[in-house]
Amino acid sequence: METSGGIALAAALAGYLSESAVATARPTPSDRVTRFVDEMTLEEKVGQMTQMAAYEVPTERAAEVLRKYKPGSLMYLTSKNPNEVARTSNELQKAMVEETRLGVPFVYGIDSVHGNNNLEGATIFPHNHGVGATWNPDAATEMASITSRTMRVTGTHWNFSPVADLQRDPRWGRFYEGFSEDPFLASQLVAAKVRGYEEKTNGYKRTGATVKHFAGYSEPANGNDRTAALLPYRTFASTILPPFSAGFTAGAETAMVNSGSLNGVPAHASKELLTDILRDRLGFDGMVVSDWHDFYRMIKVHGYAENLKEATRLGINAGVDMYMVPAAGIEGDTAEGYQRRLIELVDEGSVTTERIDEAVTNILAFKEHVGLFEDPYAAPSEVDEVVSEGRELAREVATESMTLLTNDGTLPLGSDVGSILVTGPSADSVANQMGGWTLGWQGVGDTKPPAVTVLEGISDAAPASTTVTHVPTGLREFTNEEEVRTAAESADVVVAVLGEGPYAEEKGDTDTLELPTAQRRLVETAANTGTPTVGVLVAGRPRGTTVFDHLSASVMAYLPGTAAGPAVAATLFGDNNPSGRLPFTWPTGTGQLLNLHNNYPPDQFNEAGDNRPPESDQTPLFPFGHGLSYTDFEYADMRISPKKLPQRAATDELTVSVSVRNTGDRAGETVIPVYGGRDHGQVLYPRKVVVGFDRVALEPGETERVDIRASILPLATVLGDVFARGELVVDTGEYWFAVGEVTESLSVV
Ligand code: BGC
Repeated sequence: METSGGIALAAALAGYLSESAVATARPTPSDRVTRFVDEMTLEEKVGQMTQMAAYEVPTERAAEVLRKYKPGSLMYLTSKNPNEVARTSNELQKAMVEETRLGVPFVYGIDSVHGNNNLEGATIFPHNHGVGATWNPDAATEMASITSRTMRVTGTHWNFSPVADLQRDPRWGRFYEGFSEDPFLASQLVAAKVRGYEEKTNGYKRTGATVKHFAGYSEPANGNDRTAALLPYRTFASTILPPFSAGFTAGAETAMVNSGSLNGVPAHASKELLTDILRDRLGFDGMVVSDWHDFYRMIKVHGYAENLKEATRLGINAGVDMYMVPAAGIEGDTAEGYQRRLIELVDEGSVTTERIDEAVTNILAFKEHVGLFEDPYAAPSEVDEVVSEGRELAREVATESMTLLTNDGTLPLGSDVGSILVTGPSADSVANQMGGWTLGWQGVGDTKPPAVTVLEGISDAAPASTTVTHVPTGLREFTNEEEVRTAAESADVVVAVLGEGPYAEEKGDTDTLELPTAQRRLVETAANTGTPTVGVLVAGRPRGTTVFDHLSASVMAYLPGTAAGPAVAATLFGDNNPSGRLPFTWPTGTGQLLNLHNNYPPDQFNEAGDNRPPESDQTPLFPFGHGLSYTDFEYADMRISPKKLPQRAATDELTVSVSVRNTGDRAGETVIPVYGGRDHGQVLYPRKVVVGFDRVALEPGETERVDIRASILPLATVLGDVFARGELVVDTGEYWFAVGEVTESLSVV
């Protein structure tokens, strides 16, 4: 382990943020934490290292069950009623604090990944890929802040969010949970969400964030969840790690482990990953929680450990501090079994008491920092007021995320549009616009969140003289072709709201990016009438390929949440001049995967003078950062300051200043991405990466000089031959930075 390399890596990655370098020395635990660790029996310590389902602790027998398991953490209360959640969590916590020997509160944790998606009546914000399209860290912080308020009043101190996994493979069912395929953009948004979750109230973090899933989870080689990932160290260090590091630097004290395997070892069994890299290299000093059921997966999924005892030994020794025990105890993977096995392992000397004490210290320190020892309870009297917060913010963020993909001039719809046919499977579907992780793992069930559908939004926003008709169709069935054709023939414009139904995790894996035949037929039927047809995509990934050939205009709406209706309607009618930019590459199909904006060149064989082979065109359908507007922007006179950076600069901060002009006749806002790259060097460099970005709003004809804070660190790499394992460095030499077509050079000396 090269310590100097570790410090360089941590410090370099910390530079993705405005804050100072991460701490590399472990902080001394508080007296309270040390005292608890000293006083605890082995059973109590192993209890702290257990997370179990709250619904396995019936309130009428709470004291008895809590005394038996002494759980450090609970998750998953069954009720979705906020008042009931607050009441139940208080009852359980009271039993924990008053009826167990040491009275150490449990920390209640849950996935509140796009607003408090576990509570009826709570505002549901866009999923993270939509937040990525806003390129707006401040909005991410605000959403996270509101989420944490709703959590805290219901007795929830721990959020299993945000996801720091990059969106690199849209076949993967968890694509929409990440912010971007670009490490810099993702890092900014991960850090922004962490800051919002962890805002201080009364001197403590309101809730604790979890940066997940450490690490390499988003790149299963065949696109299927929890299948093997293979990543060279150079890519891992320069591309995969930065968003994690950004989350830790922003303050996150818990990391959840990747459920899959990386380079032939389950992440949960990897000491290299969970201790050497996470702690020693990145300087993480918080607590590591396993993912659901993952000791068991070492046996049954990965074929790695022989039995649960061996898996427990491997996991705890690798660095897992707390095991997320599956409810209902699948095949012996129960809280009781885990605790018994861990005690046996300690008695046999296969897990040291030092390792146990270290884990318990990490857990208790986290509890202390979220104020559990001061106030472990929910605030029932505040629940009703707080839970409904954020409606307006949800509308603003969803609106900002809207990304105009194509437009032949049909959009924005004029006031002269007499009639609109709204059709498609997601036109009037609360479930589809929410996506997974909304009042249920696979999306909304019987309880519907307070939401405005696209149909309702269009009906509300349409001018009084415009008739809006609705013909529903299915995600996979199209049985009313005649009805759609007739309605389309008599409409001035058709809005087809297409996409995917809700899904989460492996249930969302797909081997195609094409929309189902039913939806393609719907679009063709409408478009063939000659009526301009606008597509609105409500989807968790770049879903849709050939459908764009038939659409007059198209908008990517992501999974917009509560405010889908107003956000889409404002975009169609031009009240919102769209400013969203794709945070990922939109391929023509799975055949192009993984063709990412930050791949090493080339994207296909292309010697000077050769034509592209006709059978394999790697040009994506829409490139990373794509997003049209109803106006045009022009960039000029770009300047970088300083133009020369010392290699070991104390600061990586650069200012890219550029003149932006709105050359059209509408007011508009635009995101200005600054890209960076390098034409030659000791190793290959990504074709381009984001090194900075900002947003500007301009009136027609207005010009503004914008100063954008940028960083050279996204161009840090691991030098050396094909299996190099060195530190992450910014090499000396010439780099380029670009805004639009304008490029400037920068040297590192
Ligand atoms: C997911 C995690 C999640 C956990 C608890 C797992 O299946 O992989 O992201 O935090 O469940 O809900």
